[in-house]
Amino acid sequence: MRYPFLDLAEIHASSMELFADAASRVVRSGRYIGGPEVEEFERNLARICQTTYAIGVSNGLDALKLILRAYMEMGHMAPGDEIIVAANTYIASVLAISEAGLTPVLVEPNGETFNIDSANIEAAITPRTRGIMTVHLFGRPSWDKQMVEIANRYNLKIIEDNAQAIGAQTRTPGLNNTHTTGGLGHAAGISFYPTKNIGAMGDAGAVTTNDPELAAVVRALANYGSDRRYHNIYRGFNCRLDPIQAAILNLKFPALPLEIGHRSVLADIYNKKIKNPQIILPHPIEGHVYHQYVIRTVARKEFLEYLDANGVGWDIHYPTPPHLQPCYRRMFAGQSFPVTEQIANQCVSLPISRCTSPSDAAAIAQIISQWECPSIP
Ligand SMILES: *Cc1c(COP(=O)(O)O)cnc(C)c1O
Repeated sequence: MRYPFLDLAEIHASSMELFADAASRVVRSGRYIGGPEVEEFERNLARICQTTYAIGVSNGLDALKLILRAYMEMGHMAPGDEIIVAANTYIASVLAISEAGLTPVLVEPNGETFNIDSANIEAAITPRTRGIMTVHLFGRPSWDKQMVEIANRYNLKIIEDNAQAIGAQTRTPGLNNTHTTGGLGHAAGISFYPTKNIGAMGDAGAVTTNDPELAAVVRALANYGSDRRYHNIYRGFNCRLDPIQAAILNLKFPALPLEIGHRSVLADIYNKKIKNPQIILPHPIEGHVYHQYVIRTVARKEFLEYLDANGVGWDIHYPTPPHLQPCYRRMFAGQSFPVTEQIANQCVSLPISRCTSPSDAAAIAQIISQWECPSIP
């Protein structure tokens, strides 16, 4: 047996005609920028994230960059100001901050949850701190009372990197009455990169927010900085959402509860059936939508060889943290993030997409439970 990590063509195979219809609807309409599919996409996403506004944009990285650039235009942030972000995030979170001309300040995550440790945030605050980018890594909401209290106390914007967590729910008593990621903070960026839980067939992203001014500035910035035709109030970008991608995503949105349900079923099977003292399972948390199911082992090299020999697909999210990437080595020289580096050295992502059936997951769990690594005492 072979258990692929992810096979998008296989996942899409049963709906090929629907996707082709959606794309050809746009082709036949003659409306290739904006238009009804993009508007419907924005209504759909705002409903999912429980926000007043959703603005379709080109991709997740641009979504995050546009939020930060909008806050700069609005006077909340200035070049060189600091944004706090978890050191173990995918590099796009950090790139968005530096691309906007702001300074990323890395903070260690909690070694169990992989999310930013709110207890570490306050020590990273300086007079130039303007925001916290909270990353719902692997689909796990990164949100707690301590983070919100610190943000309120220091007048910081909370920007959610919601790229991996569409539809994730979290409940923090007394905070606000919105519980869905993308609507928790002041603004959120989301990605529809093809491998995400809801993926386009190309690049796509969006900004969600309840702030009308931010929404207007983001929308203008994404469209050459123009608020109306041939009138440019900002030096903007071209970061618009492709309507063909919007049409494909509109088709996929109704399946979000099924997607999350399937992933939860597989995660439950892994949680209950993987029994191996050399494997650390993901820390349980309410609302996890399992974009990735990430385990840890100190003998990763041997474990991956064993998975290969048994036909189990895997991936690593992520092998090199941002501060050790060549592009950031100088910026973060002399800083050390041992928790982040340990996660990077030990993590392994198991198959959790619709290519994997519950019986596949049970078989994978059994294979993993039988692993014995001779090099561990
Ligand atoms: C995928 C991803 C992004 C970037 O999204 P793109 O659409 O690929 O630009 C940003 N942050 C995180 C955490 C991601 O996983």
